[in-house]
Amino acid sequence: MAEEKSLNFIEEIIEAELAEGKHKSILTRFPPEPNGYLHIGHAKSICLNFGLAKKYGGKTNLRFDDTNPSTEETEYVESIKEDVKWLGFEWANELYASDYFDKLYAFAKQLIEKGLAYVDDSTSEEIAEQKGTPTTPGKRNRFAERTVAENLQLFEEMKAGKYEDGSKVLRAKIDMAAANMLMRDPIIYRIKHAHHHRTGDKWCIYPMYDFAHGQSDSIENITHSICTLEFIPHRELYDWFIQQLGIFPSHQYEFARLNMTYTVMSKRKLLQLVNEKYVSGWDDPRMPTISGMRRRGYTAESIREFCDKIGIARRENLIDIGLLEFCVREHLNKISLRRMVVFDPLKITLTNYTATEEMLSSENNPEDETAGIREIPFSKELYIEREDFMENPPKKFFRLCPGGMVRLKGAYIIKCNEVVKNAAGNIVELKCTYIPESKSGNDTSGIHVKSVMHWVSAKHAVPVELRLYDRLLTVENADAEEGNFKDYINPDSLQTITTAYAEPALLNAKFDERYQFLRKGYFCLDKSTGEEKMIFNRTVTLKDTWAKMNK
Ligand code: ATP
Ligand code: MG
Repeated sequence: MAEEKSLNFIEEIIEAELAEGKHKSILTRFPPEPNGYLHIGHAKSICLNFGLAKKYGGKTNLRFDDTNPSTEETEYVESIKEDVKWLGFEWANELYASDYFDKLYAFAKQLIEKGLAYVDDSTSEEIAEQKGTPTTPGKRNRFAERTVAENLQLFEEMKAGKYEDGSKVLRAKIDMAAANMLMRDPIIYRIKHAHHHRTGDKWCIYPMYDFAHGQSDSIENITHSICTLEFIPHRELYDWFIQQLGIFPSHQYEFARLNMTYTVMSKRKLLQLVNEKYVSGWDDPRMPTISGMRRRGYTAESIREFCDKIGIARRENLIDIGLLEFCVREHLNKISLRRMVVFDPLKITLTNYTATEEMLSSENNPEDETAGIREIPFSKELYIEREDFMENPPKKFFRLCPGGMVRLKGAYIIKCNEVVKNAAGNIVELKCTYIPESKSGNDTSGIHVKSVMHWVSAKHAVPVELRLYDRLLTVENADAEEGNFKDYINPDSLQTITTAYAEPALLNAKFDERYQFLRKGYFCLDKSTGEEKMIFNRTVTLKDTWAKMNK
């Protein structure tokens, strides 16, 4: 029987609420700000929000939190939609906080009319100074004494474009002595003469996050508004606006954001990596972005599995990137087609092979019977991996050496008889013999060898380019180190191999297929593959250090 998973704390809350009939159904939202590409942290939030709705028969809105005109772009909106879909989720409605600008403006006027908001002409420095400190209360200034009529007129003039950026703000009138600093007359609207990606030049005042988020939730009747722990202090303000405006009571719940070793996870930092050309773009396969991981060959299934495995925490923690790689490897093992690719070729001539060539066959995936078989040409001249041969091997070297025997995967046992060197003394070829009775599947030779090696037929070999990736950062937690995270960028995070040869079955490689290059790792075709050469990304190595460590 499948192991029953215990409920996370949000599921417990939802089940209790559903049991007491508090909601007919639940509605969650995923609210990205379109100011960058989504990363694996967002995937966590997506899996949580969409996952809860799915589990409890509810729905999830995709809402673009586009209240800051200067950093947002349509390119990001498109990429976010693509990423959410690719992860396997469907939103009920595609919405934009900017669609609520009229409503939010009306809400602000309601607060003014209730005497709960005022226009303040102070500079941002003055406002900061008057705020007080966590231990001393703040002070209200004379602008807080403005009448309702005066505030309404000034706010309308702000909207009409009469004032310059930064010359006035609208503040909620709450409590300058509140223990929670965010309740000390927070700014709710500011003037910003900037073009907005959707509303164009209609507005020159924009609501602050706190004035937009909760109300947007409420307008949509969101039942569970889930965000990360740093928003805990904002909850009081979230509730205050909803209460003062008398609108649908959405509630905010907080969980720990995902942090992962050897990774930076804020869009601001990822943008620096892109702009300063540390990586080739948002979808560089080294990036922790969803598009980067997709290009690298990670599957949506494995990312969902990872998010499920790490669960929902209420305390900040740092997740081992090895766990993500473990999930990727587990899934790829099930779906990948096995292929042979020699990275650094060493030529072998089979001196006793008299046929010109023959077709052998091998299973595409031993984990999946339905994957079928492929044909692999075998001939007199082959390539093996240079590192699989040693002229003077140490004791426990079981691969090829002078006089030694190994099996070529899916083919025959071979014996090395002679090492051919060039004038410079480098090994350029091995003269070998093969054992005709040792054919895989029909081996009557009675010879036992300790190694099975991958190979390709020289005549049929397809040159391919390989890109191998390593961690982007050299330290587990760059945020905990001194200095800038860029001081810890791994200079060797990309290794390009241009010498590799693949078996001809890879000529039919498709972008949506995944491959295991025997003994070498999981690979996928990169989107930059051109006419001349196929380019493959190594998604992840075969070695499974995380699972071993944790068993
Ligand atoms: P960043 O700090 O990377 O810029 P953000 O929080 O500003 O991220 P938003 O676009 O505002 O990015 O986030 C959309 C949603 O994704 C929010 O609900 C946010 O809480 C959630 N989210 C962002 N980063 C993480 C993370 N690392 N782990 C879990 N959820 C996250
Ligand atoms: Mg944000």
